[in-house]
Amino acid sequence: MRLSLVVPCYNEAENVAAFQNAVIKAFEGCGYDYEIIYVDDGSKDATMHNLRKLHKAQLCPVKVVSFSRNFGKEAGIYAGMAQASGDYISLIDADLQQRPELLREMVSILEEKPEYDVVAAYQDRRRESKFLSFFKRSFYALINRLSSVKLQPDASDFRTFRRSVAESILSLKEYHRFSKGIFAWVGFDTCYIPYTPCERAAGVTKWNFRKLFNYAIDGIIGFSTAPLRLSVYLGSFTAVAAVIYLFVVVLQKLISGIDIPGYATIIVLILLLGSMQLFCIGIIGEYVGKTFEQSKDRPVYIPREVLSYDETTTE
Ligand code: UDP
Ligand code: MG
Repeated sequence: MRLSLVVPCYNEAENVAAFQNAVIKAFEGCGYDYEIIYVDDGSKDATMHNLRKLHKAQLCPVKVVSFSRNFGKEAGIYAGMAQASGDYISLIDADLQQRPELLREMVSILEEKPEYDVVAAYQDRRRESKFLSFFKRSFYALINRLSSVKLQPDASDFRTFRRSVAESILSLKEYHRFSKGIFAWVGFDTCYIPYTPCERAAGVTKWNFRKLFNYAIDGIIGFSTAPLRLSVYLGSFTAVAAVIYLFVVVLQKLISGIDIPGYATIIVLILLLGSMQLFCIGIIGEYVGKTFEQSKDRPVYIPREVLSYDETTTE
């Protein structure tokens, strides 16, 4: 098998068949074989019903993995990659926002340029509000400052890996999978190519601001311990400020005899120090929580069903 397409699907009933048609059309006459691996991420609509039909028809080699519940796109990517048998492995969404034609280009880059091991597409222009793009830019600036792995701003999950890279990604068994960080962490030389996302073919996006915000925090916690150091800096700063202020108060009393009533100062300081302490405990709590969850060593996903095909007949 030359190429495996890994397609995570959550409530994409209207899109899966259209997606497959688009793939078949895009790969017509490409001269190599490919398979589609759909991962049904615990969809609540007719996605699995439609995937069963696609699997039965086998218009092109189709595998389906279905999850026992919704585990998230990251788990879907992981499960799909584990099933892939291709020399190249591509990640693409089911909603046709990412044109399958571009995968052909990615494959030809990997075939022609041995110096690259990954081809990743980045959005050349974002179709989102100014607020959201400001949030995303700030996130990339922050995580690239805090973490030793460097993330390419705007690079999406729409990418193609050589098999060796996919195997390295699979060897990372962490439970909280922040794919962008994982892709950067495993290294390898990546060729970035631009793409313009299309409108979603049907259905709605599964992201909202709250989910994005939590995802951003997971990314930072997962790939940097710098926030833990923040409490050391904050603590040192307040200790120095407190000592200086102590001298000021004592000198004022000794030299000019001014006895400051200080009610407001005390309240402000109590609130300030209290909130700093809570903030630092919160940061530590994030890491303890993640460690706790990882220490349970639970699987990234639970498969309910795996529909395979007889690979010997499609060689
Ligand atoms: N997806 C998934 N599990 C989830 C959420 C999303 O497998 O819990 C899939 C979804 O079906 C789609 C892809 O991930 O194929 C990208 O999701 P979406 O289109 O909602 O994200 P957007 O393109 O808006 O960033
Ligand atoms: Mg989408």
